[in-house]
Amino acid sequence: MTDSTPTLHEYEYKAEMKQLLHLIIHSLYTHPEVFLRELISNASDALNKVRFLQLSDSAVLEPDAPLRIAIDIDKEAHTFSITDSGIGMTKDDLIDRIGTVASSGTLEFVSSIKAGNAPLDGDLIGRFGVGFYSAFMVADEVTIETRHADPGSQGYRWKSVGEGRFTIEEIDLEHRGTRISFTLKEDAKEFSEDWRVRGIIKKYSNFVDFPILIAEEQVNTVTALWHRASDAVTEEERNEFYTFLSNDPDPPLGHLHLHIEGRYNFNALLFIPRTAPPRLYDLAERRSLHLYASKVFIQDDCRELAPEYLSFITGVIDSEDLPLNVSREVTQASPVLAKINEVVTSRVLGLLDEWSKSEPEKYATFFSAFGSLLKMGATSDFTNRERILELLRFETTKTEAGTRASFRDYVSRMQAEQKDIYYLVGEHRDLLERSPNLEYFRKNDLEVLLLSDPVDVFSIPAIFEFDSKRLVSIEKADLNIPADAETPAAGADDTDTAPLLAFIKEQLGDAVEDVVASKRLVDSAATLVAGKKGMDAQMERVMKLMDKEYSGSKRILELNLAHPLIRNLARLHASGADEALVKDCVQQIYQGASLIENTLDAPADFVRRMTEIMERATR
Ligand code: ADP
Repeated sequence: MTDSTPTLHEYEYKAEMKQLLHLIIHSLYTHPEVFLRELISNASDALNKVRFLQLSDSAVLEPDAPLRIAIDIDKEAHTFSITDSGIGMTKDDLIDRIGTVASSGTLEFVSSIKAGNAPLDGDLIGRFGVGFYSAFMVADEVTIETRHADPGSQGYRWKSVGEGRFTIEEIDLEHRGTRISFTLKEDAKEFSEDWRVRGIIKKYSNFVDFPILIAEEQVNTVTALWHRASDAVTEEERNEFYTFLSNDPDPPLGHLHLHIEGRYNFNALLFIPRTAPPRLYDLAERRSLHLYASKVFIQDDCRELAPEYLSFITGVIDSEDLPLNVSREVTQASPVLAKINEVVTSRVLGLLDEWSKSEPEKYATFFSAFGSLLKMGATSDFTNRERILELLRFETTKTEAGTRASFRDYVSRMQAEQKDIYYLVGEHRDLLERSPNLEYFRKNDLEVLLLSDPVDVFSIPAIFEFDSKRLVSIEKADLNIPADAETPAAGADDTDTAPLLAFIKEQLGDAVEDVVASKRLVDSAATLVAGKKGMDAQMERVMKLMDKEYSGSKRILELNLAHPLIRNLARLHASGADEALVKDCVQQIYQGASLIENTLDAPADFVRRMTEIMERATR
């Protein structure tokens, strides 16, 4: 193990590491106090690792050493040090883990700051795990002295003045673990003041699982809040704990404190956040569930504890039924975790149901943030499908913009002879409201769900039905609606529109699947609907985005035979007077319908023809 040349070795940081350090030292000044949270969090990780090693019966240096974090400060000399009895580091660890940017998140962080589109906020450090290097916000030179918990290990001293290089030398160390020390910069002297350091620990690290000592006195509250009776935990304590777990600046929207006893036993303190992370579907952004076995930390991002569609919940779950030395592989297959998952799912859905009934505003806040995840649940969790469907909310033609109704509300407003639930999918509400396809439904007072959440395009067809009523896109050609008595397909006069229809079909040729008389139009002259095997316009757009090769399926052009334009055209066509104008109008009608549904791919053509027609009309 021992290096035969116990001299000082000098190393150079990798390029991206230099950039990162440069940024930390020169830009990230807004919350320098977070350096303490980062160092304590690393110490706590190191302590968890050594405890884990001991549980898995490996031989460990100083097996009886107390697991703790000690902070030493000297306000005269402005020095700071943090010492842990954790796993320590080998020489390779010092080179590979301290000298290199490990996570892709960190690189992303560096580039987003360089691009200038991220605020220079100390909180970013926590989110991207810049971790240890935040020490360079408060010190010019940092020293690490460390010895790995392996009984045959050697001690090392790592030193760096930041940007360029670091050195490593062998030293004699009696104890396992790590000590990180530095002299504070002029403008960071406050971090050698006792009251200041205590304050920061209370703020960020109060719930760290190991004692944090200053001058031999414990500063943090090492209690497993989740083991206390629910009414013995104050809201303030709970919110503090949430902040500690999630780094979310807002308090949670709600919580669940569970004490489950029976065939399986566990305690849990779970939170539902108020706002969603910027990228809801990005796994890396997910808040997480921490797994404990009899108060011993096992892992901090346990995916087995809740289904993916509830991945917004964060918190702690602690079970006595798990062996302490469970590994990730074991937890994945554990029937205990499967059972916990089942109970957690049911309880969270129960809480949401309660909110939806007695606290609708709170529920609306929740749904705005996480509703799209719940929709995923409706098609992936068959056991709870019915419960989830009751929880879904949608804007409709009968709700104000921004407010939502449930399927249940919709069904209660259905007309006596109405069999299906109607919907229209598109990019946003304004666009949907302008769709000519809604005209028939408006006129007949039939409610239509207006769906503009990006997941709707897949989730709504997959949900398929609610309360035995089919979900039907009003863009589908085979829509089964009774013809409107007041808008007869044939007009009041005896104009024959059949030859015009045939002519339009011939003119448009391959561009459309068919040209037919419409039952759904009231004010507009024409609209496009999905062909017999086709999809919604929105679905088509998504397919084209996902698959560059996808050329799209053909649409059907529906014409409002009662519309004056169509009737005029039919007469003009029959007279054979100005065929060029009829042809231009046919193209305009078709492209205008494409424009309305946001699929027009030749706007210049459209405008040129329109200009010519206007020119003729104004002659
Ligand atoms: P992160 O903690 O996000 O991985 P850091 O830059 O804070 O990033 O730390 C890098 C690595 O250095 C850690 O993953 C760990 O392996 C090691 N390390 C840091 N501090 C300690 C410590 N006190 N004891 C043992 N290892 C540590």
